Amino acid sequence: MSVNVCYYCGEPADSIDHVVPLSLIRQLEDDPEALERVIGKGRIREVDACRDCNHRLSSEYDINLKDRKERLRDRLRSRYLRLLAMPEWTDDDLGELNGWLQGSVIHATAVQAWIMRRLSYEGRATLNGMVIGARQKKSIPALIREAKKRKRVKK
Ligand SMILES: [Zn+2]
Repeated sequence: MSVNVCYYCGEPADSIDHVVPLSLIRQLEDDPEALERVIGKGRIREVDACRDCNHRLSSEYDINLKDRKERLRDRLRSRYLRLLAMPEWTDDDLGELNGWLQGSVIHATAVQAWIMRRLSYEGRATLNGMVIGARQKKSIPALIREAKKRKRVKK
């Protein structure tokens, strides 16, 4: 079984990020020229994403995938600012802590490693010439259909 990888951070992906938000497509569906400009020719419309990245990016629009990835990283950096600044703990340091505190520090260290791993994900690996995490491009009419369908479901 193949595991999808988050385009932004390299973690296992369990969702799809709409690079061009469906809400924006719905707004522009009656203006094909504007839609064409926003979506762009040959633009990647969707990428595999982990739930955490997808949630943090929400339905905001970015001009390209590089900016989107950078915005995600800014969000992670500011959210975990203090944790990322936490100095490394040696086993001796940890040994001096009581059980509860030791558990907290071990947990914080694991979260710190998780965030750092995601921030340093290069994402350049390719599989059969495709950027990992990038999905097949959908046509504009297909995107409009999907955007309309999603709206009905949400009501
Ligand atoms: Zn991710």
